[in-house]
Amino acid sequence: MIIPLIDKLRQEHRLSTEEYKALLLCQDADTLKYLQEQAREVSLEQFGNRVFIRGLIEITNHCHNNCYYCGIRKGNQSVLRYELTREDILECCREGYTLGFRTFVLQGGETSSVKDDFILETVTAIHREFPDCAITLSLGEKSRKTYEHFFRAGANRYLLRHETHNEEHYHHLHPDKMSIRQRLQCLAWLKEIGYQTGTGIMVGSPGQNTDHLVEDLLFIEQFHPEMIGIGPFIPHHDTPFAACPPGSMEMTLKLLSIFRLMHPKVLLPSTTALATLAPDGRERGILAGANVVMPNLSPPEQRNKYSLYDNKASLGAEAAEGLQQLEEKLTAIGYRISKERGDY
Ligand code: SAM
Repeated sequence: MIIPLIDKLRQEHRLSTEEYKALLLCQDADTLKYLQEQAREVSLEQFGNRVFIRGLIEITNHCHNNCYYCGIRKGNQSVLRYELTREDILECCREGYTLGFRTFVLQGGETSSVKDDFILETVTAIHREFPDCAITLSLGEKSRKTYEHFFRAGANRYLLRHETHNEEHYHHLHPDKMSIRQRLQCLAWLKEIGYQTGTGIMVGSPGQNTDHLVEDLLFIEQFHPEMIGIGPFIPHHDTPFAACPPGSMEMTLKLLSIFRLMHPKVLLPSTTALATLAPDGRERGILAGANVVMPNLSPPEQRNKYSLYDNKASLGAEAAEGLQQLEEKLTAIGYRISKERGDY
């Protein structure tokens, strides 16, 4: 009785609350295999066997937020903090460009030590030197004016996971001064300004239940993001959630497939967290409907300081310099790297 729901989702791109819940609760292996096959077919229809690559540059691990799940939270005194200079960032872009990357993703903690003017001038410099490349920012919550300035300087895309749409659950994951309302306001601004906007969640974050996930599905269904970033929660030993279990591979794959059926054209990364959870996680994400991977282009000597969770993968096929290895892994499952910009 779940198969007709999967067919309906593929045709109509939406389900009712109860139908989403039934799909999320389904554990039957054959049905889940069917879900993945449908999502894979849609992804192949839309993108062929191409997987877009994005070069991820982690510009700083300073952060004034204290999210309970995150290894670079302000309260973690054991992290060696760093911030890249503009020249460091441009050097990463140059290396990435030579390797074939045409999208650079600047991600970082939220900090006043890396000033908005610095970001603005950095985006301007990247745009000037690489006019054919897309610039994605993932720098958290800013004012509408700041988002506008970044956009005018040449940023095209912005990733801001809402993490969980449920207010109570949001407070379980974040200190009181952070609010889901502000997060959603930021997402609305980003869309209005014209960014290709990405949102998403951590799968299996502490306290998450099926009703929360249904709420997330309904939000994402109506928000219609151009990108959806989802990956499993993975504990970090220096956080309040150190002892919590990680999110599951199965639920992450299930959600990737649901999002592909819901939004056929969406840019859907198979995330580093999925590749950290299992050695074949990245490939399993692609086979479940994902069509983007984001190899790490940060300076290798800084990578282990951007420790959001334990054992975060940043070598081999997760590293920009490991593109050949990534290509081989994708070839083995019938896919290939696309060096196009891959806009929505
Ligand atoms: N500060 C920006 C923001 O909040 O959007 C960008 C950086 S933040 C570290 C990027 C993402 O990392 C978050 O949206 C969160 O979903 C993910 N993340 C943080 N800690 C994690 C953990 N323990 N397991 C899995 N993902 C995690």
